Parts: sequence; structure tokens; C-alpha cells
Amino acid sequence: MNSRVRFAPSPTGQLHLGGARTALFNYLFARQNQGDFLLRIEDTDKERSKKEHVEQILDSLSWLGIDWDQEPVFQSSRSDRYSEVIQSLLDKGNAYRCFATEQKLKRIREETGTYLYPGLWRDRSESEVRSMLDAGESFTVRLRTHREGITSFLDQIYQKIETSNSDIDDFIIARSDGSPVYNFCAVVDDHDMEITHVIRGEDHVSNTPKQIMIYQAMGWDLPQFAHLPMILGPDKKRLSKRHGATGVQAFRDQGYLPEALINYLALLGWNPGTEEEVFTRDQLVEMFRLERVNKKGAIFDDKKFKWISGQHLMSRSNQDILEIIKEMVPEWATTERSVYVLQVIEQLKVRSKSVLELVEQSGYFFTEPESYDKDARKKAWKENTPELLNSYLTDLSKLADWNRNSLESSLRNIADIAGVGAGRLIHPVRLALSGVSNGPSLFIIMELLGKERCLQRIQTALNLL
Ligand code: GLU
Repeated sequence: MNSRVRFAPSPTGQLHLGGARTALFNYLFARQNQGDFLLRIEDTDKERSKKEHVEQILDSLSWLGIDWDQEPVFQSSRSDRYSEVIQSLLDKGNAYRCFATEQKLKRIREETGTYLYPGLWRDRSESEVRSMLDAGESFTVRLRTHREGITSFLDQIYQKIETSNSDIDDFIIARSDGSPVYNFCAVVDDHDMEITHVIRGEDHVSNTPKQIMIYQAMGWDLPQFAHLPMILGPDKKRLSKRHGATGVQAFRDQGYLPEALINYLALLGWNPGTEEEVFTRDQLVEMFRLERVNKKGAIFDDKKFKWISGQHLMSRSNQDILEIIKEMVPEWATTERSVYVLQVIEQLKVRSKSVLELVEQSGYFFTEPESYDKDARKKAWKENTPELLNSYLTDLSKLADWNRNSLESSLRNIADIAGVGAGRLIHPVRLALSGVSNGPSLFIIMELLGKERCLQRIQTALNLL
């Protein structure tokens, strides 16, 4: 049978890194096995589920290129089916109605010190149940679970997981308002959607035995289960807002490329088994193996993410990057694809982690520096700097060919004559042209800026500093 997997977000917030990683692993697994990757929106919590969250989740998935097969399934549209399955469990005697009030259960919990349901309505007579129903008393529906033995499953990542049935009570599958609970809906949906592999976060391991009991009560085949290790912050605590931006949208807003985030997310918990760490989507589809997912939580390492982002940015074409910038930065929207702009991108993409960082660094290619970095100025501007710069200026104005080689030999020549190291000129010239101390090779900057702008900026710096 074809593999069928699903990603089942609850639309109570935007798509976070953890969800995106779960979606990605499902997606990679499906694409590798020529299976189906389905989406299910778990929107049964009417108060917390919002349409805008659904939209944002779908939008983030699309941006990441995690495309799904078939129309998404919404749990909110499946209540009839849930009622039908609950009825069938009641008919089979595998579930029963419990009329115990919340207060009563609370009292028992306090008395016995256990949260496990004591089976109050497990073995009541039909007439007793009937009379409560006739009296219009409200009830929950509970699964009649096994009292003895163990429930075990072979997790594709965590291996054998066993739970003693005595640790699981006759849990509620439908609340007193008739609404079915997550564990129940998930099973009915996974069965109806013919899911073969349930791949989800490790926080659901404890739900799995309960879900298995529902499969068994219905006589349905079990899917395979694979639970993914949690994503942790640098402090080894579960990744959360405390650790900074964790929403996919924030990464997009910061100008990171989707392929970079995909690449990094794939490495969170999955070990490619090679030294190589930079992968394209196609390579990930080809290489991904559930068996190579670790059990241990995976730490989100911002530095490594940025490095991977830089690698991906470098391999994008200059035209591509310009198009992305135009979409993100209003001032660039009307930018022509001029040779100059593309050359600037070419120089800066190798020094940036995101397109926004590239834009931030590009200012001096388009406008004169508005200020000069204080530290750089202290280091670069010495007593004899004006004299040296003036000599260079004179030489530059006579330069026949304005290219990186002639610019460099002229500079080195002036430095030689003055008996100083080339750095004595390189640093102040860079400062005069860009206002900062870092960037592409100075002579490339000069070549790109052109003669007029260079002479003028050096003169301005001489006047100001
Ligand atoms: N809605 C659940 C969640 O967001 C999905 C659990 C599952 O995949 O079964 O965690």
C-alpha cells in the first residue's frame, strides 16, 4: 500500500518551528516513498481556533514549499462522522455513558488521591442508564478500556513503548456537550484518511496508547507511529517564545530563504550520516530516513542556522535575489535589473545571511555614507592620512583605466613612496567610501562605484574628518 502521512496542526496560533519540522518530516517521507502528504486542520476547539491562523499556517507551509496533496480535511466539518463512530462504540459495548457529575468525580479524586476514573458507570444496567437519559441528565462517553495487560507499540524512532493498561482509565471520548476529544477525532480521521504512518511530536507519545485502544475498540488496523524529538532552545528547555522568534513567518520577515529554513529544520533531529550539511530540497527527499531521526531533543542553534542560510543565499542567482528584495523592501520595488545592481548583489550575497542583511549592507553602493563608524574612524584615520589620501586622489584623477587592478597598483605605489604599509591607505579609503570597516574587497567597491563617486567621497571625508 502507498504510504499516506498527514500533518495535523491545531489552528490556535501561527506555524512554529516545531510544527514546521513535523510537517517537513512527513512531507519528506511521503515524497521519498511516492506517497501522499495530507493536511488536517484540527479545529475542534471553537474558541481558540481562528480562520486567520489556518490561513497563516497554509501560507507558511506554501512559502516553505511543503506542498500537500488533496484538499485539507477540517475536523469541524466531521462531527456527523464522529457521532456515528461514538454510536457504534456504544452499540458494541466498547464505550458507555457516564453520568457522574464533575463535583462527584472531584470528591472521589480528593478522597482516593488518584485521577484515574474509578469506573462508576462502567457496569450499570441498561434500565439505570435509560432512566438517566429519560430524565435528561447529561453524560460523557467513556471508552471501556482493558483493565489488565499492557498496550505496546513499536515506535519507528523510540522503539518499543509499553504502557500498563492499569495506568489508563476509562477515558472520556465525548464531553458532556457531545463534543469528541482530540484522541478520538485523531483516530477516526487517521483511519478514514487511510494514514499509514503517524509522524508527530514526541509530546504525543503519551496519547498513543489511548489512541491504540480506540483503534482496537473499533477493530481497525493500526498505523505505524513515529514520534519526533522535541526542539530545544540553547538552555535545553523546550523551544518557546522565551528563546526569541519561533514562528516561521518571523524567519520569512527577516529575509531568510525558505530552502535555508527547510535545510536547517531537516537537521533538527535527523542525522544525514554525512559530513555535508547543506542540502537542497531534492537531496533531502532522497536522503531522509526515519531511522536516522535521533531520540534526543534537538537544540536550535542560531549560529548554525545563519551559516546554512548564508550558504543558500550564496547559491541563489543575483536576479532571483533581486526579485525577493523587490518584494520585501518597498524602496527597491522599482529597481531595474541593471548590471550595477546585480553586481552589488553578487558582492554582498556572499557576505550575508539573509536578503535583508544584504540590503542593510548595500547602502553605500547607492548613497553617500551619512556617517563614519566611530571605531573604524579611530583605527583608520591617522595624522598622516590626509596627506596620503591627497596623493592617492591626485593619482586617481589621472588614472586611465578605472578597474580593480589599476586601482590597487596605484594605491600600493603611493604607500610605497610614502614608506607606509598599504593598510594605511586601504582603511581610510574604505571608511571614506562606505562609512564602515568591513565589506567586499576595497578595489571591487571602487571599481563598482566608479571614478566620480570615489573621488568625491574621498574629498568629502577629507573635508569632514
Ligand atoms: N493537533 C495536534 C497538534 O498540533 C496534532 C497531533 C497529531 O499529529 O496527532 O499537536
